[in-house]
Amino acid sequence: MHHFAYRDGALFAEDVDLREIAEKVGTPVYVYSSATIERHYRLYEQAMASITPGRKPHVFYAMKANSNLGVLKTLAALGAGADTVSEGEIRKALAAGFPPERIVFSGVGKSEGELAFAVEAGIYQVNIESESELDLLSRVGERLGRRQEAVFRVNPDIGAGGHAKITTGSSANKFGVSFEDVHRLYARAANMAGVRIMGLAVHIGSQIRETGAFEAAYAKMRDLVLALREEGHRVDRLDLGGGLGIPYEVPRDFDHGPGLIEAYAGMVGKLTAGLDVELGFEPGRLIVGNAGILLTRVLHLNPRPTKQFLVVDAAMNDLMRPAMYEAYHEIWPVAEPAPGTAAVAYDVVGPICESGDTFTTGRELPQQKPGDLIAFMTAGAYGASMSSTYNQRLLVAEVLVKGDQFAVTRPRQSYEELIGTDRSPPWLS
Ligand SMILES: *Cc1c(COP(=O)(O)O)cnc(C)c1O
Repeated sequence: MHHFAYRDGALFAEDVDLREIAEKVGTPVYVYSSATIERHYRLYEQAMASITPGRKPHVFYAMKANSNLGVLKTLAALGAGADTVSEGEIRKALAAGFPPERIVFSGVGKSEGELAFAVEAGIYQVNIESESELDLLSRVGERLGRRQEAVFRVNPDIGAGGHAKITTGSSANKFGVSFEDVHRLYARAANMAGVRIMGLAVHIGSQIRETGAFEAAYAKMRDLVLALREEGHRVDRLDLGGGLGIPYEVPRDFDHGPGLIEAYAGMVGKLTAGLDVELGFEPGRLIVGNAGILLTRVLHLNPRPTKQFLVVDAAMNDLMRPAMYEAYHEIWPVAEPAPGTAAVAYDVVGPICESGDTFTTGRELPQQKPGDLIAFMTAGAYGASMSSTYNQRLLVAEVLVKGDQFAVTRPRQSYEELIGTDRSPPWLS
């Protein structure tokens, strides 16, 4: 469920008319709903709390899904932790008010400088993805006089996800240490002065809409926890990653409710019963996905003999998912179509000089004209956070709505900022 709905003939974000945002901030612009973010976070946290009685589940929001400061502050205030994948994300999480003891650091290519920053900041946990990283982290910890708490991210050789580019759990993917190696690495790490291994982590992919693949991976993790304990190792933490998917393609009045989250929680509860571990979770898309839309204006209609192009002012640099993952986004006109309005099949495209800059083909929409506003729905995750300045387009603006208020939480980049940061080489100036 989300808080974008028609009211008196126009699309609103909570109690704010999207036409007002378009007018004041311009387009393209991302609009996020605080109430939707809060609702999804609470649903998720409550479901996980129900399977960890007496313990608070550790919910680390995977901030690469949406790292807007307003979104981060909203989640930090709700008590969320942050799952980060770079020094930049750690810095931004700290700036947004996530305490270091609620931050984990994942990723296959952490540099020495990034690890040193994380250790000095005093973060909760580093998710180690290779033996080389284990050695590096221990050296860094020793040098700084700290024993950094860490877990091994294991590759369970079970891949899943809505698209090949978002599968991470197969052994052919670059992520994690192998099941075979983890025993030896655990034993080696026991003698290392700069790192303390607390347990295991796993993350198999993204946009996963059924529990089967998770279940297969988590069953392997359970066996691994028991096997490592047999070998005399301590396994106190089990970080189960993110990856739960959301419905992108839904009828306008559909409320999917908490069904999938509850099924997932039930499955995790069963598989981890009696295991006596602290559970961690890293949801990203599920928390912010349908809490955001990309609002864009129609620039031109370009009719061809066989099709109609609808050229809008948003492009693949603003919303990469269709070009990158062949992703589907619902498109809602901001002016509510009157019943019986004629529909036209449009290819909706952006201004960028690439044929891949196509959001959708043959999509039935009410007849459009230049100046009309449309919204790409369910664009809150992996939207603005993946945006770029390709074609020297300005980085997209972002707005956070709360009730009847809205704030620009990222102003549109200026041309000065876009061009002024380049430097001329001395031999050409
Ligand atoms: C991207 C990522 C997540 C979040 O994935 P979602 O599909 O957005 O829930 C969680 N953990 C790790 C390690 C990730 O890389």
